[in-house]
Amino acid sequence: MSRHVEALIVGAGPIGLACGISAARRDVAAELIDAGSIAHSIMRYPVGMTFFTTPERLEIGGHPLVTSGAKATREEALKYYRGVARAESLRVRPYVRLIGAAGEGGTIRCTLQSRLSTDIVTCDRLVLATGYFDHANLLGVPGESLEHVSHWLDEPHATSGLDVVIIGGKNSAVESALQCYRAGARVTIVYRGAEWRPSVKYWLRPDLDNRIKAGEIAAHMAAEVVEISPEAVIIRDASGARTGIPADRVYALTGYHPDFALLESIGIAIDEATGRPALDPDTLETNVPGVHLAGSVGAGRHTSEVFIENGRYDGEKIFGDRKSRVQAEAEYAFRPRQVGE
Ligand SMILES: Cc1cc2nc3c(=O)[nH]c(=O)nc-3n(C[C@H](O)[C@H](O)[C@H](O)COP(=O)(O)OP(=O)(O)OC[C@H]3O[C@@H](n4cnc5c(N)ncnc54)[C@H](O)[C@@H]3O)c2cc1C
Repeated sequence: MSRHVEALIVGAGPIGLACGISAARRDVAAELIDAGSIAHSIMRYPVGMTFFTTPERLEIGGHPLVTSGAKATREEALKYYRGVARAESLRVRPYVRLIGAAGEGGTIRCTLQSRLSTDIVTCDRLVLATGYFDHANLLGVPGESLEHVSHWLDEPHATSGLDVVIIGGKNSAVESALQCYRAGARVTIVYRGAEWRPSVKYWLRPDLDNRIKAGEIAAHMAAEVVEISPEAVIIRDASGARTGIPADRVYALTGYHPDFALLESIGIAIDEATGRPALDPDTLETNVPGVHLAGSVGAGRHTSEVFIENGRYDGEKIFGDRKSRVQAEAEYAFRPRQVGE
């Protein structure tokens, strides 16, 4: 027997929660589910991480985010988002995953899986706010699935006293290299580009440059990882020479992507080059009637284009009227090009 809800919002990250608030304020009975906890992606940030964005731009539903410093930490954000969910009486079912959905006679039939059961829920509107953080961009090299290799850094302290290799050249890789170094690891960063990305934050860049100059962090630029063994990361430099870098832990921080397989199984059209799903810009409805995308899942492979500060009005587009859509669009006009700008 299936149950019917007016709207099912999949993903209780910042944007899914904001969608839940927009729905509730329009008297739309919405249920939220998350494959993990509330704000599960933020929970997986490194312990003690500080947001780039100023607190007011992380706020949803008009609830103030009060922080002890100038910017919110991971812990403050977790407390904030679960507090907002409680204050707004959002119906969130944690640890329930959407594993499939299909249009059926004007409603959408969704298959949900939890630890104990698999259920069918039908809904008039399905909002996918599933982000991208669960799906790492793989290097595709031998050894990538070894136990000491991860695509997520959770606790820098765990690397104390170890040889750590960080692969990547964006903010996450640079910040993680600095955090592991400060936690007492011997850090090497390997990046395939000849120079750091211009998007690396202005306060991280000099810190990293100075650590490299001082010989405190080793860096291999224009280098490709060719293999990971239990003891070392094997790289090839621009001349073709191979070097083995000792590694007790390897963090391949080479980005993430939305769950394309799930989106495609629902019938959502995706641009092959960019990974961007086809969306009505006014309502964020996909080509599948009644199915909307909100937040960073809508950015395809360009995950840095939609984040909390510019995705938090998506619920207004989905559940609002023409006026709230225009207001949301005005907020978008201030959309910074990158996180924290
Ligand atoms: C280290 C780091 C620092 C960052 N700093 C900033 C910053 O300073 N400012 C900023 O604006 N952004 C920042 N971001 C980006 C920001 O985290 C994301 O843009 C934001 O989390 C997107 O919100 P979302 O709600 O769209 O997706 P998410 O927060 O990723 O939430 C998606 C949710 O969907 C759930 N889910 C996924 N698949 C399913 C499924 N099939 N069924 C049920 N649930 C599912 C997940 O468990 C998750 O809880 C940072 C990201 C990282 C990694």
